[in-house]
Amino acid sequence: MLRRLLDSPWTYFVAAGLLAMVGIVSQIERREPSRPPGGLPELAALHDRKDLNVVFILIDALRADRLGVSGYARPTSPNLDALASGGVRFARTRASSSWTKPSMASLLTSTSPSAHRILRWEDTVPDAATLPAEVFRAAGLRTTGLHRNDWLAPHFGFAQGFDSYYTPRVYSETRAMRRNSPSVGSGLRGSDADTTDAAVQFLKSFGRERFFLYLHYMDVHQYASDAAGPTFGTSHSDFYDSAIAWVDANIGAVVSELDRLGLSNRTLIIVTADHGEEFGEHGGEGHGRTLYREMTDVPLLVIPPFRLATPAVVETPVSSLDVFPTVLDLMGLPPLPGAEGHTLRPLIEAAIGGTPPPAGEDRPVFAELDRSWGQRGAPPDRLAAVATDETRLIRALDRPEPVQLFALGTDPNERANVAASDPATRDRLEALLSQQMQRPASPWGAAAPVQMDRLSLDQLRALGYVVH
Ligand SMILES: [Zn+2]
Repeated sequence: MLRRLLDSPWTYFVAAGLLAMVGIVSQIERREPSRPPGGLPELAALHDRKDLNVVFILIDALRADRLGVSGYARPTSPNLDALASGGVRFARTRASSSWTKPSMASLLTSTSPSAHRILRWEDTVPDAATLPAEVFRAAGLRTTGLHRNDWLAPHFGFAQGFDSYYTPRVYSETRAMRRNSPSVGSGLRGSDADTTDAAVQFLKSFGRERFFLYLHYMDVHQYASDAAGPTFGTSHSDFYDSAIAWVDANIGAVVSELDRLGLSNRTLIIVTADHGEEFGEHGGEGHGRTLYREMTDVPLLVIPPFRLATPAVVETPVSSLDVFPTVLDLMGLPPLPGAEGHTLRPLIEAAIGGTPPPAGEDRPVFAELDRSWGQRGAPPDRLAAVATDETRLIRALDRPEPVQLFALGTDPNERANVAASDPATRDRLEALLSQQMQRPASPWGAAAPVQMDRLSLDQLRALGYVVH
């Protein structure tokens, strides 16, 4: 019998087939995410772990509603969707401004623009402010920041706490599809692939140490994408979607490298944006001019170093100010001094546990913008907004413009101004906004305005901004 089996060529075919199957199965196993399963006990245990890293991914100008996981019809974000499927997604996260610098200053210091007052192009984050990288470095993490947005250059104060903070060397070029638009620019050199390559190199070199890695992606802001990626059409909005798919693929490469190096089970990943982008919803294009939902509503994913059995989705509105108070709380690290934001731990626990959100976690969220931010010496032209679960009020602070009030429950796209027909809500939100605008300035005070040379100004103009 044995001899007959050994003599039969079919035996060898079957054996070869089995070997091939074993190979395929082991490949599949290797491709499985390396996050172990987890839930509420593992979330609580993060507090005492001494091996955690943080990868903080900021996608400049990414509005929340363009991700697959938010219900968008196009497949713009398979990698982010996959991350969200085992993590926590905040479905209603609101940024503090619609322009990069005030919004990033708020996100990183957990203070509102009315307190930090970093609203104009020459304003800087003072040395006395404490940024998350400073807390992580004090806790022994190696801190590295990679950015391609010159509004975040060290001379604006954003490098505080980083062992290494730089713009990656240019090796790649993408198709920048904004070239024909008068309102946006395409002069930024390089590609987000440079950021991804630098991130992968960092992980290979320093993955055995603890680290905080900040990746600030820019190609969505530039409507730029790789020629090999999907193209959804030829309008600005289509180019923008193609760019999201391209940046999503970049994030997929970083996540794969974390998996390959066995780091995913000890790395917390945060994904968010500084503001959105408008495509004519309220008459304009780009960002940095208004405070409607397409400007302020940004994604927020909190991906723990374990995989939830079912995705946790938080529907309670939250603020970008809450991001780092949450991360530091989850990791058992000291809070940012003077933080206005709150830890989102109670909302995360409720979402994972399938229980209703605790009372008191639904707070109004504020945003502010000085519309003359790009013009040195121009008088302030501030716009301020307050949003609750059901309403948003927007008002100009320095000009006599009509107050705008939107009933988000019935008018989520903010088309009908109901300020005149609902005076009770208008007055309540006006009072909240006045209170917010009277906040004392941040205790660290103001920094000296930056002195910039022609080269730096040209770099900012290359992003498509008009700076005088
Ligand atoms: Zn931005």
